[in-house]
Amino acid sequence: MVHYKIQVNGIVQGVGFRPFVYALATGNNCKGSVINNTEGVTIHLEGDDQSIQQCIDAIKNSPPPLAKIIDIRITKLPLNGYTAFTIEESQITTCKDTFIPPDVAICNECHDEFFDSTNRRYHYPFTTCTHCGPRFSIIDDIPYDRANTSMRSFPMCSNCLAEYRNPLNRRFHTQPNACSVCGPEYRLCDSSGKTILTQFDAIMEQVKALLKDHIVAIKSVGGYHLACDARSDRCVTLLRERKNRPFKPFAIMVSSIEFLETFCSVTAREKELLQSRERPIVLIKLNKTIFSTHVAPHLTYIGVMLPYTPFQYMLFHNNRESIYIMTSANIADEPIIYKDNDAFERLHTIVDYFVTYNREIIAHTDDSVMYVVDEHPFFVRRSRGYVPAPLFIKKTPLHILATGGDLKNSFALARNNFVIVSQYLGDLSTPWGNDLYRKTIAHFSKIFDFKPALVVSDMHPGYFTTLFAHELEEHGVQTIATQHHHAHIASVCQEHGVSQPVIGIAYDGTGYGTDHTLWGSEFLIADTTTFTRAAHFDYFKLPGGEHAINNPWKIGLSLLQCTGIDSNNFFTNEKEKFLVEEIIQKNINCPLTCSIGRLFDGVAALLGLAHHISTEAEAAMLLEEEALKAYSDTCVLSIPISNSMPYGINTTWLVQEIVSMMDKGIAPATIAMRFHRAIADVTVRVALMLREQFKIHSVALSGGVFHNRILLHCIVEGLRKNRFDVYTPLQLPCNDGGIALGQIAIGRDTYNGH
Ligand code: ZN
Ligand code: ZN
Ligand code: FE
Repeated sequence: MVHYKIQVNGIVQGVGFRPFVYALATGNNCKGSVINNTEGVTIHLEGDDQSIQQCIDAIKNSPPPLAKIIDIRITKLPLNGYTAFTIEESQITTCKDTFIPPDVAICNECHDEFFDSTNRRYHYPFTTCTHCGPRFSIIDDIPYDRANTSMRSFPMCSNCLAEYRNPLNRRFHTQPNACSVCGPEYRLCDSSGKTILTQFDAIMEQVKALLKDHIVAIKSVGGYHLACDARSDRCVTLLRERKNRPFKPFAIMVSSIEFLETFCSVTAREKELLQSRERPIVLIKLNKTIFSTHVAPHLTYIGVMLPYTPFQYMLFHNNRESIYIMTSANIADEPIIYKDNDAFERLHTIVDYFVTYNREIIAHTDDSVMYVVDEHPFFVRRSRGYVPAPLFIKKTPLHILATGGDLKNSFALARNNFVIVSQYLGDLSTPWGNDLYRKTIAHFSKIFDFKPALVVSDMHPGYFTTLFAHELEEHGVQTIATQHHHAHIASVCQEHGVSQPVIGIAYDGTGYGTDHTLWGSEFLIADTTTFTRAAHFDYFKLPGGEHAINNPWKIGLSLLQCTGIDSNNFFTNEKEKFLVEEIIQKNINCPLTCSIGRLFDGVAALLGLAHHISTEAEAAMLLEEEALKAYSDTCVLSIPISNSMPYGINTTWLVQEIVSMMDKGIAPATIAMRFHRAIADVTVRVALMLREQFKIHSVALSGGVFHNRILLHCIVEGLRKNRFDVYTPLQLPCNDGGIALGQIAIGRDTYNGH
C-alpha cells in the first residue's frame, strides 16, 4: 500500500473532474479523497502501487472533455488509513491559480434528452451537464460553486439535487444544473417589455411565426442577439435601417452543415470549426444567394454559425431550411447588450419583440469569428467559447495588466506563467464602451485574484486605454508604453515562443509611431524587448487626419496629389474636392501616414469601389472582393525600394502604375488583383533584403490587414518558397484584439531587463 498526493492544475473545475477521479479511484479500488481548491484539484490516493499508477495515467491521458491539465505534481506521503474514497467540499486557499472554463455548446447527450419526449428534461431549454453549457458568462467569483454563479437564485428541486450529489451522474456538481421545476425560464415580451407568453413550447411556436416578419431580440449565452428571417428583404433592410448599419455584413445561423452545403462550399476545416463545441461564426464561401442580398452586400464570404443552445435548436425544429440573421445586439459601435434592463431600455426602437430569461448574464461575450485560409483557422474575434482560457508563457515575476488598443479591444492580464486575454470589448470610443471596459477589468481582477503591479499600454496619447494606464499610474502602479506595431509582432513571438529577433511585418490600419506619425506598414527587426524600424511604405498625407477613414475618396485624392497626377477624372463633387485639395496643398490637418490599410482605402476609391464608408475596413473588403474576380491574373508589378534604412517602398510609383492601368482601360478587378500581388511581391523582396542584412530567417506577420485572404495567402506562400520560417497569430486575432499579449511580453521582458 502507498499514499500519494496529486495536485492537478489547469482547467479542472466545473468540468467534471472530481466525479471522474471518483469513478477512477473507486473503479481501481483506491481510497482517499478529492477536493477543489483555488489552486485546482487535490487528490489523495491510497492503494496498491499498480492501481494508483493506472489512475494517474488515466488522469494524464483521458481527462473529461472540457478539462485542460497544465501541471500535475505528485508527492508520496505516509499512509493515512483511508476507509473510503470521498469527494470533499471546496476549500478556499490563498492563491487563485485556477481557471474558469469558457461557455460551450450543448453536448450531444443533453441535446438528445432535450428532444426525448420521455425524458424529464424534454423541451427544458436550460438543459446542461458537466460537459456543456454556460460557465464564464454566469460566474461571479471562484471557487466555481453554485453560490458564486447567477444560478444562486434557483435552489435545486429534489430530482436535480439527487443528480448533483451523485458522483456517478453526468450532472454531479454541475453548477447550472436545473429542470423545469426549479430552473430559469424564458418569456416572450412585446417591445414595451410586457410579458406575452411564458410557456416554452408556446413561445417557440410564436417566435418562429414572428421571425418571418419581425425583428426579435433574443437573450443568448453572452448577450442579446438581434434575429430576423434572412430570407426576407423587408426584414433585413428594416434591421439595417433601424440599426443604422448600411454595409457591415450580418452573420447567419442555419440548422446544419448539410443544409449549409446546399448554398456554400465548406472545407473540412471549416466544418470542424462550425461543429466544434466553441461554435464560432466561420466565414464561409457563398455559392448562391438563397437569402436576402442585404445580409452581406457585395461579399463572397459570409459569417455562418450553427445552433449552440437548446433555444436555438428549437428555432430549427421542423424548420430545417430556415436561415436567421443572428447579430450582436448593440447600438452603433457600442458593446453587446447583455443586461435585461439595458435591452428593454435601449433596443425597443430596433426590435418588435424580446425573448428573455430570468438568469443574469454576468460576463458578456460576443460570438467568436474565424476564417480559414489554406486550411488554417484564424481569429477575427476571440470571445465566446474561447475566453477566458489561459495562454501559457514564460513566468512573469509580477502581475501585469496590458490595456490593449482602442479598436477591437481585448485587454490581458498575466501572472505566474499564464495570460488571460479578455473577451472582445470592441470600440472604446463611447462612454458605454469605456464603462464596460472598467467593469470588465474589475471583474477579471476579482475572478483571477489579480492586482496589477505593472501596466502596459499603447503609446498613442489619445487612446482611452493609455489614459486608463495613467490613472493607475497615479495610484502608484508602474507603467510602460509600447509602440503599437511592436506589440503586434511581440504578440506573435510570444504565442510561438520565439525569443530570437524576427523580421516582423505589421500591415495595419493605424498605429502611433515613435516619430508621432501614423505607422501601418512596418518591417521591424524585433524581439519582445526592443525593435528597429527597417522598412515601410512611403508616407502620404491623410487629409483631415484619422477621420479620413470614413472617406476613402479623400485618401484617393491625396494619393493622386502626392503623385502629381491631375485629378480631373476623379470624383464628382467639385466643391468638396476643391476643399480637400486645398487642405492637402496648405498642409492643414494632414498628418503623414504609411498605413497599408489606408493605402487600400485610397486605391479602392481610385477604382471607384468605395467613396464614403460606414464601417472600418469596408473599402479594403470591397477591393479584395474585386480582386477575387481576377484571381487568375498573375502579372506582378515590381515596386521600387529605396536603398537606405529604413527602406522606403515607393507608394507614389504604385499609384502611378494604377492610374496608368486605368487610363489604358484595364478592368478594375485586374488592377485590384495586380495591386494585391505587387504588395505581396514587395513584401517578400524586402524580407529577403533584411535576411541578407541581419541574418534572420524568421518572419512574424501581424496587423488587421492580414484578414485579407489574398494577401495572407500570397505573402505566406512567397515567404515559404524562400525558406523563411513564417509565424502568424493563431490563438489570437491578427488585429488589435491580439496586441495585449504582445504588450504583456514587452512589459515582462523590459521589466526583467531592468
Ligand atoms: Zn451536456
Ligand atoms: Zn430541478
Ligand atoms: Fe493594429
